[in-house]
Amino acid sequence: MAASIIDGKAFAARVRAKVAAEVSALSRDHGLIPGLAVVLVGEDPASQVYVRSKGKQTVEVGMQSFEHRLPVDISEAELLNLIVKLNADPEIHGILVQLPLPSHVNSELVVNAVDPAKDVDGFHISNVGLLGTGQKAMVPCTPLGCLMMLRDHHDSLSGMDAVVVGRSNIVGKPMAQLLLGDSCTVTIAHSRTRDLPAVCRRADILVAAVGRPEMIPGDWVKPGATVIDVGINRIERDGKTRLVGDVHFESATKVAGAITPVPGGVGPMTIACLLANTLTAACRANGLPEPEGLTA
Ligand code: NDP
Repeated sequence: MAASIIDGKAFAARVRAKVAAEVSALSRDHGLIPGLAVVLVGEDPASQVYVRSKGKQTVEVGMQSFEHRLPVDISEAELLNLIVKLNADPEIHGILVQLPLPSHVNSELVVNAVDPAKDVDGFHISNVGLLGTGQKAMVPCTPLGCLMMLRDHHDSLSGMDAVVVGRSNIVGKPMAQLLLGDSCTVTIAHSRTRDLPAVCRRADILVAAVGRPEMIPGDWVKPGATVIDVGINRIERDGKTRLVGDVHFESATKVAGAITPVPGGVGPMTIACLLANTLTAACRANGLPEPEGLTA
């Protein structure tokens, strides 16, 4: 039987609707409007598309959007100055610095200059530590979106064998922490893993975050497994540019129990979770209860 398709686009729309309802209640009951500041340095076309999309969706859920577009040659000191101002601004509850930054800027320094309470990307070292020790953190958006879809699909993840392929700080490592937090038995695989096919075949939950088009074929997938494909790869096929994941969808869908497609799976969840994180940050900053179902 073919796998059921986990529709990330529809799921993300539900998350945004939930965020919008919570924002409306916050504004009505507390006069509070969550605000998200996005900082973009330079004119990288892909980053510009992301930032535009983030701004649009922020406004659509009733939040305030603040965009700071800075020239590519801005100095590190000027950028850090802006972060200090945003940290101190009470109208801003979330700050996102669009990566990558130009090479003359120390990205780690900038990311760690953001107030951890406003770090809606979850990349600040304090949030990494909080997540790793099972404390309340701001959680990176893409793995948070994956977790939400997994929780929606399974009554409980407890005791399941989870394999995360990829160990980046943005996806692989936080994903593994989240799965561990939900009591999965977690394996993190990477480019040096021996016998990757056998490792993948053990997985009840297989998360692919590699960046290699269709690297994982169906015969690496355990029958009935839930497959979350984080990969976004642009390839040329039949004279057209197409987006494909890290999993070979056509063969995997014949074996898996459920699978996220690319596009329309994990991708749309990332911005939805950014909005959820901004809402969570606004609630925490004001001592209000956090919305249910939108956090780890
Ligand atoms: P990175 O390049 O930072 O990390 C890739 C990881 O894959 C590394 O840990 C690397 O291992 C591992 N890897 C590379 N080759 C192999 C291999 N042959 N076998 C096993 N593991 C391998 O990528 P990201 O984590 O940032 O992103 C991964 C993918 O997810 C990309 O396609 C990216 O576009 C996509 N993405 C999608 C998002 C979304 O919103 N849906 C958001 C973020 C990313 P090693 O450490 O040993 O080098």
